[in-house]
Amino acid sequence: MGKPARLGVVIVGLVLVAAVGAIYVLGTRHGQDLALERAVAGIFDSVAPAEYDGLRVFVCGSGSPLPGRAQACVAITAGESLYLVDAGAGSQATMQLHGQPTAHMRAILLTHLHTDHITGIPDMNLTSWVMGRREPLRILGPAGVERVVDGFNEVLALDRGFRVAHHGVQLLRPELGVMHAETVEPGVVVEDNGLTITAFAVNHEPITPAFGYRFDYRGRSVVISGDTVVTDSLEAAARGADLLLHDVLSKRIVRTLEAAAIEAGASRQAKIFADIPTYHAHAVELGPLAERTGVRMLGVYHFVPPPRNYLMERIYRHDLPDGTVLTRDGTEFKLPADSTAIHVTGT
Ligand SMILES: [Zn+2]
Ligand SMILES: [Zn+2]
Repeated sequence: MGKPARLGVVIVGLVLVAAVGAIYVLGTRHGQDLALERAVAGIFDSVAPAEYDGLRVFVCGSGSPLPGRAQACVAITAGESLYLVDAGAGSQATMQLHGQPTAHMRAILLTHLHTDHITGIPDMNLTSWVMGRREPLRILGPAGVERVVDGFNEVLALDRGFRVAHHGVQLLRPELGVMHAETVEPGVVVEDNGLTITAFAVNHEPITPAFGYRFDYRGRSVVISGDTVVTDSLEAAARGADLLLHDVLSKRIVRTLEAAAIEAGASRQAKIFADIPTYHAHAVELGPLAERTGVRMLGVYHFVPPPRNYLMERIYRHDLPDGTVLTRDGTEFKLPADSTAIHVTGT
């Protein structure tokens, strides 16, 4: 055995001894306590107020009703304000895991009132209330939003009482646990310290109205499509934007699922798979859309269905232009003010 080979054996031996030692230490109570203290040190630092000079776009839910991801949710932070576009099931957990500044949540803007866009609202309301939100959470959305919010407020009335009784009115001011609904129309819906949010109509028929939202802040812009087919109104709203985050459906995967459901005699599932391609944008249509609008970057979210393995991801990539960002739960785009840069993490 030569010198390098002997050295290799020694290194492997040392690594094995270290691994066995670590396993032994983590089996003792003292070792567990030490490791736990080290692991949690600093985890609360990330919930400090946002101080980024520009727009931050965080994907808190990249999925749809089909399983595999948290459901639709995008968090946009500008200065000290955080706005959500939709809050689907599971999205609050993504926010919390990634230390998003929920205390600064000003409003949730709903694209439409399908369950996969609204059932996370109670969790977002509770978390932001606990974290110290200073005003009641506003829920902006299309006609019908008041009915949804009235319902949530009623469903959560007992829970609010339990939370206040347990943690006290100093921590949880009762009036901040009650959400306020506001019906919006296309046009500017929020102006907040240099941030402008504009609602525009999209086509998700038979769900009407349904909106997308454009955010403009310090020379940067992002457009969130909500659920829609490729449509002129979105094209107009997205023209020249830095980032377009668009709903995406893989017709190839959905058609294959439909055929498999028919083959198996699963007629209910087959009907659903036959219906859904009519009201979502197909992956192959998004490259030409990005080209026509001249957006700097195209990202896709609200996958129908969410890719769950390498094959599904490759099928999406095959139908989308090079450079498209296939988001995941936790993907973040940072757009520094007055710049052309876009920094993407968590893909
Ligand atoms: Zn949806
Ligand atoms: Zn929908």
